[in-house]
Amino acid sequence: MTAALLVLLVAGLLVAWVLFWRQWQQDEEPPSIEHDERISPLLRGINYLLTDEPDRALQEMVQVAKLRSEAADVYMALGEMFRSHGEIGRAVRIHQNILARPDVSSELYLQAHFALAKDFQTGGLLDRSLRHYQKVLDVRSDHLDALTASLRIREQSSEWLKAEALLSRIERLQGDEDGLHRAYLWGALAQDAMQAEAYDVAHEYINNALNLAKNCGHAYILLVRLALKKNDAEKLQHALSTMQHEAPDYLHLLMPVLLKNNVCTDELMLYCQEKNDHELALAWMEEIATHDVSAAVSLREKLAFTPSGLRESLRLAAMGMNSDQGFVKEAKKWRLSMKHYGCRQCGVQIVDMRWQCPQCHQWGSMAAITEDDN
Ligand SMILES: [Zn+2]
Repeated sequence: MTAALLVLLVAGLLVAWVLFWRQWQQDEEPPSIEHDERISPLLRGINYLLTDEPDRALQEMVQVAKLRSEAADVYMALGEMFRSHGEIGRAVRIHQNILARPDVSSELYLQAHFALAKDFQTGGLLDRSLRHYQKVLDVRSDHLDALTASLRIREQSSEWLKAEALLSRIERLQGDEDGLHRAYLWGALAQDAMQAEAYDVAHEYINNALNLAKNCGHAYILLVRLALKKNDAEKLQHALSTMQHEAPDYLHLLMPVLLKNNVCTDELMLYCQEKNDHELALAWMEEIATHDVSAAVSLREKLAFTPSGLRESLRLAAMGMNSDQGFVKEAKKWRLSMKHYGCRQCGVQIVDMRWQCPQCHQWGSMAAITEDDN
């Protein structure tokens, strides 16, 4: 976009210069671009932009009486440029100005509403952004980018049912079902229901999620929490053993709640030893070490845990399992900001677990980073 914009600006400047030169030849006195009536406000605007006076540029350019398609392209490119530089107010002014004109073509109307929606989304004004995406969808209900952007905003605002409805529209357009995505939306709904203590509703949502995707980690975590809440040992056992098969990457997330409820079963110990699940072992030891380092050391012996690299050694040191206290202090500091999870899809690394990647927005793509990932 920047390259295209540069070409546009240079082309505009050349035209301006030719007009300017002709005028000079005729009058033998160089007029100033600012006062030459024959130079269009658009070109004057470009001149102001090049002399780094964006507000004067905008002032000139909004005076362009009729939007020819080239001028519209320049406008749209400028709006993109302002937005990408974080100058949202200026981007909004450009796009609103396009929409305020009586002669806007239907295509430009769509483009301007879409751009305005992106401006507001970038500026964090999500309601206003949604309104403009809706304007696009009112005209073209199959506008995939507007649907996808609206879905992101609904997810960002935790409006899961609305997100789910948008996902259905996207799936219909693409002729493809995204069961994992929908499962995670049901997971998010289940979590809200749990928080509202609507446990039966939560259970139903969890079942919906697991019927859609057997590996929906969030649903298992909630299923375990629900069983603990209801003191249902049988359901707890079942949830844990299913999770060991279907979503083992997330078992370690349960350690705090399992230990708090004193239900770290022999079966889990066996699983940890048999599968040599380092993440589970580390999470288990870390949780115990927060209040009893010697108990964590005993657990380490029981699990016969040997760190497989520097990262795991540092995590052990951060628990206090090192005789050098200075080193332990540094390791603890490192552990607090340790990038623990990475996205399998886009590779972004983050400190705390999330069910949706903050960068590529994929659901269920975050996993604990292992020694091999580094
Ligand atoms: Zn990602």
